[in-house]
Amino acid sequence: VAQNSLSGPCAIAIDLGGTQIRAAAIDRTGIIHARVAAATPAQAGPDAIIAVMRTLARDVAEEVAENHDVCGFGLASPGPVNTRSRVALGIPTLAGFDHVDLGVLLDQAFGRTVALENDAIAAAIGEWQFGAGRGCRDLVYVTVSTGIGGGVIANGAPLRGCHGMAAHLGHMTLIHGGELCLCGRKGCWEAYASGYALERRSGMTAHAVFDKAAGGDPAAQDMVRNEASLLGAGIVNLLHAFDPERVILGGGLALGFDQLTDQIRATIANDAMPAFRDRRVVRAERIGDSGLLGMAALVFQGHEERMNDRVN
Ligand SMILES: [Zn+2]
Repeated sequence: VAQNSLSGPCAIAIDLGGTQIRAAAIDRTGIIHARVAAATPAQAGPDAIIAVMRTLARDVAEEVAENHDVCGFGLASPGPVNTRSRVALGIPTLAGFDHVDLGVLLDQAFGRTVALENDAIAAAIGEWQFGAGRGCRDLVYVTVSTGIGGGVIANGAPLRGCHGMAAHLGHMTLIHGGELCLCGRKGCWEAYASGYALERRSGMTAHAVFDKAAGGDPAAQDMVRNEASLLGAGIVNLLHAFDPERVILGGGLALGFDQLTDQIRATIANDAMPAFRDRRVVRAERIGDSGLLGMAALVFQGHEERMNDRVN
């Protein structure tokens, strides 16, 4: 049943980032009706962060209250979070989140069950439901910014693994014994192809590299080609592992997608097994909002399951 987006219910989705906490009121069709943001008190610990999230959620719910019921709340959290036990397992960007019962704290603060998902899996769901992955049963979403994260949709459902932590794609090994990664291991894809790695190699911001390359600077163009080859090398592994219909590239570096795409495609054409060479790599459609949208989709799914339980 199609619901009128002017008056249908909204989910309140929260995205907890290392520098910013954002909240949005989103309807069943993926329209964002209101949004708010505040700085993340990254060193202040879980109680302070949850207090900010509650304030933002309340503010954004109030903004849409005249036209929309709120059907639930959801948090896209940086990982790793065990979403089966709802325990945060040492979030590197936030102080005090090691072995914290995040689910219990959220439910107490909000006075109801809050949906919880790892942010990259939420972003994959957002692109699958409302972005570049609409209509796909099998896709891989890769977000490339400071680090590399990801999410996989397999057989028409999010792949979560036995702790809800699947698809830490940035930490698959690209070169055994290679460069040191921020995770403490060596040779991760992230250590070679992340925005941070590009900035370390080039000595300038990723944005500056793309700018100079677009302006015709040959050294910068080489750096972009090299970056695209490194991204392509990881994507070839993902094609072989997951047999996706398409790969969606999101995150800050995807803003340079037009400059990366030819070399990514060439790398797949050279390196993938022949049967995997026809897969498309596309730019995310909802860059910046994918996680919020995926969280909204999960809140609606939970809401609809509860309604069905009541009927049956
Ligand atoms: Zn790593």
